[in-house]
Amino acid sequence: MSEAASATPFCVVRPSSVGQVRDIVAVANERKTPIVPYGGGSGLMGGALSVMRGIVLDMRDMDRVVAVDRDAMTATVEAGAVLEPVEKKLNERGLMLGHDPWTFPVATVGGAISTDGLGYRGGKYGSMGDQVLGIEAVLPLGSIIRTPAVSKRSTGIDLKRLLIGGEGCFGIITEATLRVFPAPEKRSLSAYRFASFEQGFAAVQTIYSKGLKPAVMDFGDDAEKFGGDALLYLGFEGVAEVVEAEERAALALCDRGGGAPLPREEAERFWRDRHRVGYLFAQNRGRGRGGGGWGEGVLRDWLHVALPVSRVVDFRRMAIEMAGKRGVCLEESGVWTHPELFSLRLAIAAGGDGRLVLADTVDELLRRAHEAGGSMEYCHGVGVKLARLMEREHDSGLEAMRRIKQVLDPNQIMNPGKLGL
Ligand SMILES: Cc1cc2nc3c(=O)[nH]c(=O)nc-3n(C[C@H](O)[C@H](O)[C@H](O)COP(=O)(O)OP(=O)(O)OC[C@H]3O[C@@H](n4cnc5c(N)ncnc54)[C@H](O)[C@@H]3O)c2cc1C
Repeated sequence: MSEAASATPFCVVRPSSVGQVRDIVAVANERKTPIVPYGGGSGLMGGALSVMRGIVLDMRDMDRVVAVDRDAMTATVEAGAVLEPVEKKLNERGLMLGHDPWTFPVATVGGAISTDGLGYRGGKYGSMGDQVLGIEAVLPLGSIIRTPAVSKRSTGIDLKRLLIGGEGCFGIITEATLRVFPAPEKRSLSAYRFASFEQGFAAVQTIYSKGLKPAVMDFGDDAEKFGGDALLYLGFEGVAEVVEAEERAALALCDRGGGAPLPREEAERFWRDRHRVGYLFAQNRGRGRGGGGWGEGVLRDWLHVALPVSRVVDFRRMAIEMAGKRGVCLEESGVWTHPELFSLRLAIAAGGDGRLVLADTVDELLRRAHEAGGSMEYCHGVGVKLARLMEREHDSGLEAMRRIKQVLDPNQIMNPGKLGL
């Protein structure tokens, strides 16, 4: 996968109101200057990277929690607000966000919506996009749209969907009304060890096929940590009686599926440490993950593909074999939140043609994901990293997307070079 060249921006602007965002968009149209919306900068695909000289629109001064409606269970929040402080404000009122990614202390509401991210509790509450009820945004020609904060309407296409997963190419999100949730009466976490990936995955599949919906599900192998075994973390949360009943049913399926229960502290540690990397990132110590970082003398890359559940086990087997033949190690693989979200961590020794071999292996795996009837990315967006593969992902749908973009953004000012548009 090629690395995109970056360009030094002309300026960084930090607006503090939707009116100011509109004014900046007007200037950018007049001068035909690109605008790159910027949230926490934690995106893995280079979506907030400037590839042409232009204006970086740093949204982090728009960070207010504008309103919380306890009856409607909604919070209206400015787009530059970082998730963790929003969560803290909600917690004071017995509420919480449903979106809880690794990068909780860094990622902003606007960045999470623009990538339609997925967090640890996504199994119960869905992706960030699923939690957006209403949106306020400045479109590329400067008009402001506000969609009502309702969970559904039947009045034509839903314009907020242009912004969800839109990576700043179709407009700038300035505010969103999010569905919020009651702080759970009970959360119960458990851990199981399985003798193989296949055995554990079968148990996971059974749990979902019975209609159980763990809030937290993280399953996978890690050659270094567990040898050939695979570990499953499960978490249920909500009303105590429901949590107990759901957990009892899920754990019985794990027992029946051949899993060995581990002490609960194991799962609680996993839960406690879940934002550790996010805090490192916040201190500027975790950067580099997306570009293949971490570890002396080793290059790594992470993939998060969407696969039909029935293809996961075969895909993994193929990936180990194919990567192995090229000298690339599949260090870790697994599913989290949904059994169709398959993640892989690949590594190769740095130096020589390591970078090229790793990039080529990633390309081939993404091609195989398409061939399996899946998608190349589940929750981190496209940015510049996957832009050139968008045609294969969408086929003639990409042309439709490009036409929409052309009509909305005739001067091509909104985050050019991203999403393959
Ligand atoms: C170590 C690590 C772990 C991660 N774990 C997760 C995880 O568990 N789950 C997950 O979903 N993601 C994860 N990510 C990816 C990243 O944190 C998310 O994509 C996050 O939602 C990005 O938010 P941000 O505010 O940092 O956005 P940025 O990186 O600043 O921007 C991302 C994209 O959104 C656009 N954008 C930002 N703000 C706006 C706006 N107001 N209007 C329009 N467009 C905008 C940008 O132009 C860019 O295209 C991880 C990243 C790292 C480095």
